[in-house]
Amino acid sequence: MQPSVDVLIVGAGLAGASAAHHIRASGKTVCVLHTNALGRNASQIGGGLINPMMARKGRPAWMAAEALDALEALGVDTYHCLPHHDVPLYRPARDTSQADAFREQALANPTLGRFREADTVAAGLDYLRAPFGVLEVLRGAAVNLEATATAWLGDTEVNLIDPDWQAEDLGDGVRVHTSRGEFRAARLLLCMGAGMLTHPLTRTLKLQGIKGQLIRLEKAAALPERLPPLSGIAYLVDAGDGSVWVGSTFERDWASLETTPEGRLQLQERAAEVIPALRGARVLEHRAAQRITVPGTRLPMLGSLHTDSNIWVFTGLGSKGMLYAALFGSRIPVFFNNPEAIPAMCRVVHRSAES
Ligand SMILES: Cc1cc2nc3c(=O)[nH]c(=O)nc-3n(C[C@H](O)[C@H](O)[C@H](O)COP(=O)(O)OP(=O)(O)OC[C@H]3O[C@@H](n4cnc5c(N)ncnc54)[C@H](O)[C@@H]3O)c2cc1C
Repeated sequence: MQPSVDVLIVGAGLAGASAAHHIRASGKTVCVLHTNALGRNASQIGGGLINPMMARKGRPAWMAAEALDALEALGVDTYHCLPHHDVPLYRPARDTSQADAFREQALANPTLGRFREADTVAAGLDYLRAPFGVLEVLRGAAVNLEATATAWLGDTEVNLIDPDWQAEDLGDGVRVHTSRGEFRAARLLLCMGAGMLTHPLTRTLKLQGIKGQLIRLEKAAALPERLPPLSGIAYLVDAGDGSVWVGSTFERDWASLETTPEGRLQLQERAAEVIPALRGARVLEHRAAQRITVPGTRLPMLGSLHTDSNIWVFTGLGSKGMLYAALFGSRIPVFFNNPEAIPAMCRVVHRSAES
């Protein structure tokens, strides 16, 4: 078979965009296919945090430092949509026991975090409710997720297709039949986010969808022109236009992927707990999408769909889309040549393989 590109990627979210960037940088030709027929994808939900100390006790995420290095290596363009890259991300402690845990993690990881006692919280943060002190996540930041994916794609060829495409693995390449015609590639890389749960090729993978809702609130006039990135019982990302994104709910069961009045209210109340001046702020917009996680590991899933297949998957970014899209995207060219280098906990697992 004569491939028309080296790698055909399905999915134009953070995973597909980071993979496309790095595979092209390794000298291969890439074409991206995606659909807009399945509703909003996770990389289109608006503001998001880069938070390497996200766990309840502020422990660093798995391979946090390497993921941050991979993000930085993606270059200045990656950060064009960052409202702040010169201030840390602030994480107020919820109570004394969380403050103790944050203190401990800041001591153990001084390049990532620094703990500020309540009476030394930097001046200028008086709008923040932080009676138990604040963890300053030094390499934390905030981005517009959609703008980031677009920036990573750069001038990669992108085609819009219907979601019911089919693929044939011919041994020396893959042929893909789509509503836009036939595409041929040496390798097919599936980065379909929630689309993985329903597509016939990938629906047997051990993946889970978790719904998250997000609202955009009008910012109170008393607040600074630009809020720093904030994380606590809710996270807040300044949209840069007089409004702030507030995320997000974490729902394992849901009837529809629309936002709900309860979800929006919960986020409004949580935002007001972090920043009291946001109490009663008007909801300008609300969105919902699914995070895809790998139950058990909560780490990304990467590798060939079946032994020796030319069809690969890259998914399971969960809540850490920015960190793990950058980290694993940067390593995909190496993993293509040496699949054994993929961390064992991140290899492809099908649900049937467990029973
Ligand atoms: C509410 C919420 C808040 C979040 N907040 C943060 C945050 O603060 N920080 C952070 O780092 N991460 C955050 N995340 C997680 C992050 O958004 C995701 O991990 C990341 O966007 C997933 O990217 P992806 O490329 O794997 O999937 P997606 O973004 O879902 O992209 C999937 C792509 O595949 C395409 N596709 C799907 N099915 C098909 C098909 N059958 N045929 C063709 N194309 C198909 C879609 O069109 C899309 O282009 C949040 C997620 C949610 C839901």
